[in-house]
Amino acid sequence: MAIERTFSIIKPDATRRNLTGAINAKIEAAGLRIIAQRRTKWKQADARKFYAVHAKRPFYKDLVKFMTSGPIVMQVLEGNNAIAKYREIMGATNPANADAGTIRKDFAESIEANSVHGSDSAENAKKEIKLCFKAAEIVG
Ligand code: ATP
Ligand code: MG
Repeated sequence: MAIERTFSIIKPDATRRNLTGAINAKIEAAGLRIIAQRRTKWKQADARKFYAVHAKRPFYKDLVKFMTSGPIVMQVLEGNNAIAKYREIMGATNPANADAGTIRKDFAESIEANSVHGSDSAENAKKEIKLCFKAAEIVG
């Protein structure tokens, strides 16, 4: 297994309920290291740019509204097979379909307010990390 990096966001529904530490505990328990982390609040333009791939989807407008509704925590995670590993511990997009013990099963409120984002491929991980962090902010 290769050491990889993936990009994570703790979403506004989770920061509102003070779940940053609980989510980080699950990340670390899975053997992933948080090698960069920044709490911020996105403006509309930031969310539109990040989710541009979903621009044609019916939920896009609401998603941008939700992702700008409160603080988020952006992270870079590193570890063996980090991209697939994080997707695994996040659980399915819709928490109703997520496996027991996953972040979304335990914490998500709905298919939209689903507590976390994780990159879905190596290519997107690289793009998302570059979009949100300077190289000097990532300390592996
Ligand atoms: P993420 O990209 O946030 O890691 P994902 O890859 O599981 O989640 P995507 O299909 O990429 O899911 O959708 C991006 C985000 O858009 C979802 O995490 C969720 O917040 C929102 N979303 C997806 N599908 C729907 C839907 N049918 N209705 C409302 N919101 C949705
Ligand atoms: Mg996605």
